[in-house]
Amino acid sequence: MKKRFLLPLLFVLPISMMAKEVQTTSPNGKLVVTINDEGGKATYNITLNGQQMLKPSQLGFKANFGDFTQGLRILQERKETISKDYTMWQTKQKHTLYTANQLTLDLENARQQKMSIIFSVSDNDVAFRYEIPRQKNDNPKCALITEEASSFNLPDGTTTFICPQIDPMKGWERTKPSYEEEYKADAPMTEKSRYGQGYTFPCLFHLSNGWVLISETGVDSHYCGAHLSDYQAGNGYTVAYPQQGENNGFGSTSAQIALPGKTPWRTITVGETLKPIVETTIAYDVVEPLYEPSQEYKGGRYTWSWLIWQDNSINYDDQVKFIDLAAAMGYEFCLVDNWWDQNIGRERIVELSKYAQSKGVSLMLWYNSNGAWNDAPQTPRNCLSTSIARDREMAWLKSIGVKGIKVDFFAGDKQETMKLYEDILYDANRYGIQCIFHGCTIPRGWERMYPNYVASEAVLASENVFFSEHAAIQEPFELTLHPFCRNAVGTMDWGGVIMNKYLSPDNKSRHTRKTTDAFEIATAFTNQTAVQCIAMQPNNLEELNANELDFLKQIPTIWDDTRFIDGYPGRYVVLARHHNDQWYIAALNAQKEPLQLTLNISDFNVKNLLIDKTDKKGKTTTIATQPLKADKKGNVKITMQPNGGFVMF
Ligand code: CA
Repeated sequence: MKKRFLLPLLFVLPISMMAKEVQTTSPNGKLVVTINDEGGKATYNITLNGQQMLKPSQLGFKANFGDFTQGLRILQERKETISKDYTMWQTKQKHTLYTANQLTLDLENARQQKMSIIFSVSDNDVAFRYEIPRQKNDNPKCALITEEASSFNLPDGTTTFICPQIDPMKGWERTKPSYEEEYKADAPMTEKSRYGQGYTFPCLFHLSNGWVLISETGVDSHYCGAHLSDYQAGNGYTVAYPQQGENNGFGSTSAQIALPGKTPWRTITVGETLKPIVETTIAYDVVEPLYEPSQEYKGGRYTWSWLIWQDNSINYDDQVKFIDLAAAMGYEFCLVDNWWDQNIGRERIVELSKYAQSKGVSLMLWYNSNGAWNDAPQTPRNCLSTSIARDREMAWLKSIGVKGIKVDFFAGDKQETMKLYEDILYDANRYGIQCIFHGCTIPRGWERMYPNYVASEAVLASENVFFSEHAAIQEPFELTLHPFCRNAVGTMDWGGVIMNKYLSPDNKSRHTRKTTDAFEIATAFTNQTAVQCIAMQPNNLEELNANELDFLKQIPTIWDDTRFIDGYPGRYVVLARHHNDQWYIAALNAQKEPLQLTLNISDFNVKNLLIDKTDKKGKTTTIATQPLKADKKGNVKITMQPNGGFVMF
């Protein structure tokens, strides 16, 4: 009897040890994610239309109570279809219907500790995250997640469009990292990152058969922000947690969560073309609003003296000039930058706000997020770093009619700092204040999670075009890259349509702007943020022709829809955005040669073209608005000048 009993046991045992493979597909069946637990490692791979987009890549994490990177076994799977309809006003698209197949895999490690991996797979996006239950005897009830093994193993030959993570406490007044490093286009994966610290999200990859954009979303006060490690052959790029030195070394690099708990979503957008990359809404699809807006927030345009007039302009009289400029243009806001509390003073800011309101303009005020985490000296400091200070400050802001704040110089991606972002946003909402962040991290679903969040800098922004001629030369490259990358996952406060020819208040000295007027105007459409800086200067009112001024007055900032038409990151971009009943097609050319395009415009109600005008020698002289002439099939031929652009409307 005993022997008979043994036989089936021996037979059963190997089966339970065998690797398990589970598959899930997108609703249209074209995107396939396959998860496997072979050798005790959980891996996933992705194909699109049968083509490999991600080679087997690792899953798992290490917590302070258990190792979930090895000895893993898939126990069971659950599948469901989810569908949700939502609207939001601050991003590329107003109304989204998100449909996805969701797969939940329950796994255990060699110590029989449990965790689950959730995959949410829509037609061009994969989002996954880990859920961690309490273990035996309902313990532990809290955990530190110290490390994540999640990797992205792209096919060989893939090239990269990525931005290096810099060492902490470097740069001006020890304010880094702040997502302000230079992107490099079309580099091999094997190239080492510039600072040996990997890369900041989002990361764009060009495969032989398509494109992949990797980022994360749903990061709030319950977790740290992450980035990607350097490339490692065989494993690809791995999710990396903050560096120890961020936040002046204070606070953990781990995430501290209550159990049951979950990690943020890691997102992978895949496409055979760049269309799904530019149009993705995955950052918003898998998150939910965390609180109700206290009032209806509105988008708009703002003037900003600091970009070109710098610190000297933070005085009452100069701010009046930029308020008057906003009023003349019909713009909603004027941003008063750093040192206002000292150089204008709080009493006169009350007067200035009153003056602005009398002109139909609302003030936004700059703040230093500091605190204690870097040496940025600008004031006001210590006004937003505790809830006691915030409450006092924001009650005052509301009482004097200030509608928005720009908060600068944050301290990296540790959970400590994520908590500060959330606390500022939540408190600001109670006083009807919208928030723009600078010197900061990228948003991770925040436009949907926090209804009074507007945008983040988190890019090598317009201030650099002022600071150095090198950045002015790089501007076309950067701005033809971001619609495919940085701005594809979150709103971006690049900081201004610049109409001065020279980066100086007299518009005669220092270095020149390298872009044409049509290029600059088109950036108001290609750069997406609901509160857009039009960095015009008072002198531009006399310098620009009536056509240009009229058009600049009409620039919308709120979009119902966005469509990719053509482009290549870092070279050129053609996008269509829809506002109310009007389509706008905007394009930028970052190349040294004129670019001839044939575009089919039959889907868009565009009738006019604003474009660079050239003289007989081909030199761009001015800007022209002319009727669009399409052929019977709806095609138009357009030539874009080097560093030029156009807008159809
Ligand atoms: Ca900055």
